[in-house]
Amino acid sequence: MGKTDRGEHPLMFDDYTVDTVDAQWLQERVKPKRHIGLTAELCILCRACEDVCPWECIYMMDPAVIRDATNPEIKSLAETSGAVFIIDDAECTRCAICVERCPSDALWLGRVEGY
Ligand code: SF4
Ligand code: SF4
Repeated sequence: MGKTDRGEHPLMFDDYTVDTVDAQWLQERVKPKRHIGLTAELCILCRACEDVCPWECIYMMDPAVIRDATNPEIKSLAETSGAVFIIDDAECTRCAICVERCPSDALWLGRVEGY
């Protein structure tokens, strides 16, 4: 017989039910609450981050890909930027290999607000 803060309990439980784990919930839970950040002024457009990512989920793209954006802030970025970085958040594991590889310290690992 084992003991917990709720008292004694049998070694094996038989009063449980098996539920299917929601894939979305699982994905959110297993990942650290971190995100990759970019200080654009430091980026030298070397593409080393793209090259080193083991999951091939960071992309340096032509700003033309967002030229049709309706958000004025994004539209202005498209007109004034040399490149747009996109990270596939579903694939990124927050391993920070790209952060380590970046030769100009333009990439950084940040905490998601509230965590
Ligand atoms: S943190 Fe890791 S998985 Fe995410 S973009 Fe960087 S290298 Fe790729
Ligand atoms: S590795 Fe750093 S400097 Fe090179 S493209 Fe990526 S963010 Fe820019």
